[in-house]
Order: sequence, then structure tokens, then C-alpha cells
Amino acid sequence: MEPSAQNELVIQGSAASKGIAYGQVFLYLQSELEIPRYTVDPDKRVAEIARFEHALVVTRQQISQIQAQVTKNLSEEEALIFDAHQMVLEDQALIGETIRDFQKSGLNIETCFNTVAQRYIQAFAEIDDEYLRERAADIKDVAKRVLHVLLGQTANSLTELVEQRIIVAHDISPSEAAGIDRSAALAIVTDAGSRTSHAVIVARSMKIPAVVGVRDLTTKVKNGDWLMVDGYDGVVIVNPTEQTLFRYGKIQKAKKSFESRLMTVNELAAETLDGVKITLRANIEKPDEVALVKQYRADGVGLYRTEFLFLSTNHLPTEDQQYAAYREIVAGLAPATVTIRTLDVGGDKPLPGDPHLIGPEANPFMGLRAIRMCLENPALFKAQLRAILRASAHGKVDLMYPMISGTEELDRANALLDEARAELKERNQPFDATMRTGTMIEIPSAAIAGDLLAEKCDFFSIGTNDLIQYLLAIDRGNNRIAHLYDPSHPAVIRVLKQIVDLGHAAKLKVSVCGEMAGDPVFVPLLLGLGVDELSMTPTLLPAVKFLVRAMKLSDARKLAKDALAQTDPKKTFALIEAFYNERMKVE
Ligand code: PEP
Ligand code: MG
Repeated sequence: MEPSAQNELVIQGSAASKGIAYGQVFLYLQSELEIPRYTVDPDKRVAEIARFEHALVVTRQQISQIQAQVTKNLSEEEALIFDAHQMVLEDQALIGETIRDFQKSGLNIETCFNTVAQRYIQAFAEIDDEYLRERAADIKDVAKRVLHVLLGQTANSLTELVEQRIIVAHDISPSEAAGIDRSAALAIVTDAGSRTSHAVIVARSMKIPAVVGVRDLTTKVKNGDWLMVDGYDGVVIVNPTEQTLFRYGKIQKAKKSFESRLMTVNELAAETLDGVKITLRANIEKPDEVALVKQYRADGVGLYRTEFLFLSTNHLPTEDQQYAAYREIVAGLAPATVTIRTLDVGGDKPLPGDPHLIGPEANPFMGLRAIRMCLENPALFKAQLRAILRASAHGKVDLMYPMISGTEELDRANALLDEARAELKERNQPFDATMRTGTMIEIPSAAIAGDLLAEKCDFFSIGTNDLIQYLLAIDRGNNRIAHLYDPSHPAVIRVLKQIVDLGHAAKLKVSVCGEMAGDPVFVPLLLGLGVDELSMTPTLLPAVKFLVRAMKLSDARKLAKDALAQTDPKKTFALIEAFYNERMKVE
């Protein structure tokens, strides 16, 4: 059904993933539940227990319904989660204890159930057994559902999205984003978030238009409202008028023709006008993106974010499961290089399979993230290293460590890698003994002491998303300070130059795999500073290649020199933008 052409509401957010989408809202509300607490009159206590039993039945039906709906989108293993959820509802200890608590205290059943469930969640989370710890997540999920039913609220989940809709949420976690069925999500719009939050990176890789930082859109729309989402300019229009629809029809046509202009270079070499070939690689999150890497003719993969294998299920993947996923990518792209980054969880990527491994932290981005968590859990880390090494026997693998802050971490990681190699030798399992190891430079200390790291690795890859976050002390996911997240800041440009110089002094290749590498406006600056390789979401490759083919490296070097001499970030950006506009001849 078409929308009413009244009350058009235009809201400006931040453009996060390109594209235009028009469709109806799927409101995804994950707010914390407020549970009222009151005493139930003695004559109403039998009815209160009946209300609880009824809620359990309704929840069971809801889960069966979702299970039936989503089985086709998930693997059998993932669908098993719902069996585990049904088992929680049948858990006599949980239910019996709730009823006993209720009979003793006379407090409303929501309060009793919540108290008992929280007790169970806490107890399971502390058990030193992976399988039992996973039950904590199941109980948490199911308890939330039961409470929603008791409170008469509808709980929804992104896996329930089966019809084509625009997802509107306050925020989306990377694991939730990874679980989205890309054929059902027309666009993603969030109140919070910013361009470099991980959920947005996933949206970009899935080619789903996204607008973030729309403040309180979730309070302004309801399920079924019609939305126009403009992922180019970061605009969301609620109930667009006929004129708006017509205007966007034209914009979409123009954008499509610009994009097909960019695609004309897809089969051509990424070579500058003065004859320098630039290596352009792809960033991927899942094995099914191999097809995209090939479609956009990337020179292999510059960043494979392995954590998405850990984020999309409630179970920690085994060495064999990891090996299967890594091998699929490596063999699928051979002989091209696949740069496999070791696990980078924590920060905005909590680990659903084992929340206990990281636990609650006051400052997750500065906490037990990435290599720090891996070094604290050598068994888990070595299982991943063995899986990566085993995959290296099927093609060309570069291994890369995230969030290295100094040589001690690098030494410890390399020592575990040596142990992993020795274990495989013992098992008679083949691997490539010449596999190279690289360090991500994304913490200021690594940039400043890069010469020390360079002695102990084979290449550098700059993670500008985190580097800028830590250098400028700007939370990369906080939209309210997004305007301060500025790649044109003189400190950023100077540090990038220093990393390139330190890497080159040690004869290492330096690549950039943060979002800056896929932003054509910044590409000439990076190349001018001496960056050797760029790695980006595959869909961004044609725009970057088009620009590379339209510029001279000698001009980019001059641009970098001018940018380094400039002190005002706004003027620096104006220089960079003018360079881009002149070459792309875009309005
Ligand atoms: C980065 O920080 O720039 C990067 C590429 O890593 P991630 O975005 O996964 O943190
Ligand atoms: Mg990073």
C-alpha cells in the first residue's frame, strides 16, 4: 500500500552507507525493560501464577514461530539456538523457583521471575565450562521475551525481519548487524552510531544504505510508516510526498549513472596517469564475500575481520570450524593474498559466545580488546593461529595482529605463533612456513615507536578508524562528537607520515585498511604520503580506482606536502577536496 502524502518530515543524520531506499519501517526496539514491583493481593495469587504459565506458553509459541520463519536464512547449527531457548522455558528449576519465590514474597511475578533468572544468568556466567556459560546467554534472551509478554510489550528481533523493510533502531550491535538477512533489509537507520562503527561497516559491506545519528527517530516513527532513506546525503524522510518521491527517483537515476561511470574502470588496472600501479585490496567479514572481491577485481584481501565468525553465533567456533571458513576464502582467492587479522573482539564488538571472557568494563575500547584478550587466553588464540596456519597451505596468507601497542605484545603473539607452528608439525598438518606477519598500527604508541615494531614484523597496516579515535580521544561510535573525528587534523596527517616513514626505513610495505582508504577524497593524500596499498569494502573499489586512474602520483605528493604544511584542518580538507573534485569532475 502507498503512503499518505501528508506530514512529510525531513531529518538530517550522517551518511553511513551509500544508496537510496524507500520502504516501510521495521522498528527494532531493544530498550532495557522497566519492571514494576508491587505486592499481589492474597486473593489474586492463583491468577498471578496462571498469568505466568500463560506467558510461558505464549513465549514458546513465539519462539516456534520465529524458528520456522528464520530456519531458511540460518545454518542448521544457528537454528539450534532456538531449541536451546525452548529448553530454558521447560526448565523446571527456573520455573519452580520463581513460583516458590512468589509464594514466599507475594511480589508480582515479573519481579520474582526476573530475580531468579538474573541469579541463574550470573551463576552460569561464572562457571568454568564453555557449554554451561553459553546457557547464560540463552536464559538472558528467553527471560527478556517472557518479561515482554508479562508486561504486554512486543519484543522483536532482527532475525524476525523476513519481509523487505527499513530497519529503524536506536543502535545495532555488530553481531546483530551480522545476523541481518540482506535480502530483507532495504536500509538501516539508527538514532546513534557513526560512520566507522562496526555495524555500519557491515552495512556497507552488504551494500545496504545506512544513515546514522538520526537522534530520536525511533520515537518519531512506528512500524509500517513509509521512509525514504538517502545514504548519500544522510537524510531520512518520513512519509515523503509525491514531489519528494519524484525528486528521489531522479536522484537515484543520476547516482546510478555516476556509479555505472565508475564501473567502467572495473576491468582496468589501478594505475595513475604517471604510470604507477597501486595495489587495491578488499576488506571482508565473511567467506561469502569472496564473490564480491572477485567481482570488483581486488588485488586480494587486505583485511579479513575474523571476529565476525565469532560474533554471528552464540558459540565460540572451534579450530576446525575456523579452518573451514579461512580455507574457503584463501582457496577461493588463490593465488591472491588474503590478509587474515586475528580476533579483534571487545570495544563495540562484545563476544556473544562467551561474554565472560571480557566481562563488563567501564572503558571497553581501552579494555581487554583484540590482542590483549587473545594473549590472556592463549588456548583460544592458538586455536585461531593453528586454523590460520592450516589455511595458509591452500593459497597465500598474510597474518596480521590488531591493537598492538608495543613490542612486548608483538613478541608474545609471535611466540604463540611459533608454538602453534610446532603443534601443527607434531600433528603432521601442513602450513606455509613462509607466511608473513604484519602489525596493525592503530594505537598512537605503535605509531610513535613504529621503528621498534618494524624490526619484528613483515608489514604495517594502518587502522585509521582506531588510530584517529585514540589519537584525538574521540569515541568512533559516538555521533555527538562525530564532528571532531577529523582525518584532516594536522596530528593525524603527521602521524600517518611518520608511520609510512618508519615502515619504509625498515623496508616494510605500509598499507591502510581503515575507512579512510575507501574514501576517494582522502586517497590522494594517503598515496601522496607514501602509503603503498589501500584496502577497503569491495563496493568502494570502483570509485577509488577511478580516482587513481585520474590522478598523477607526483601531484598527490605535492598535495601531501601542502597538507603537511597547513595548520587549519578546514583549509587542509578544502585542499584535499579540491584535488578530488578537479579529477573526478563531479559537482
Ligand atoms: C581500523 O581500526 O581502522 C580497522 C581497520 O580495524 P577495525 O575497524 O576493525 O577496528
Ligand atoms: Mg581497529
